[in-house]
Amino acid sequence: MATSENQPQTALVIAAHPDDIESWCAGAVAGLSRSGWRVVYVLCTSGEKGTSDPHETPETVAARREREQREAARIVGADEPIFLRLGDGEIEEGRELPGLLVREIRRHRPRLLITHDPEHPWPPYTTHRDHRVVGRVALDAAYPYARDPLHFPEQITGEGLSPHAIAEAWLFSSDTPDYYVDISATLDAKIAARLAHASQTSDPAALAESWRRRARETGQAGGLPYAEAFKRVVLG
Ligand SMILES: [Zn+2]
Repeated sequence: MATSENQPQTALVIAAHPDDIESWCAGAVAGLSRSGWRVVYVLCTSGEKGTSDPHETPETVAARREREQREAARIVGADEPIFLRLGDGEIEEGRELPGLLVREIRRHRPRLLITHDPEHPWPPYTTHRDHRVVGRVALDAAYPYARDPLHFPEQITGEGLSPHAIAEAWLFSSDTPDYYVDISATLDAKIAARLAHASQTSDPAALAESWRRRARETGQAGGLPYAEAFKRVVLG
């Protein structure tokens, strides 16, 4: 971020499920946090269907996954996550999610949005539908909804908020990345944050090694030792 690297601000990370952030962008998040940025996570669902045990209740799974997500955020220096608690696998574009995200944008006033790439998701064709929907709605919320006062005016008049324009977005899990962030100094923190999702991890050593390999391969594509890849979109 050429114009703002010396001027710490706020990054808003909007993801569908607990562990999405750690899988795709926690290294970049840790770097921003270490540079003095404030980082705010918004989790649209609490991943309550993320279990292979048919006897567990959604409530039990959600509570566990929220605990894991809080710990993962703490490890990389992000704020306490915001949980919107929409239905896992059931997110719709509609009016509810855009309104909720406009509210968070106007409350936290980020310079940078980090979210799923909805247009060229990776992997192609078999991407989780929540990832596509959340990425699309997050971008819609950033532009034009949060910026323009006559969209979702209830978040202005009712809550004392004002419109806000986000400068740019970094889209993760993109099939067409064009922006690489060096995570050499934050890879260990990224892996530790991912491993905080213990319920989603069967073999921690193997997972850590696969994540290290993936960061190295992404780095090769971007000319860096270890990297995360994004599609960068200038919004303002
Ligand atoms: Zn996910």
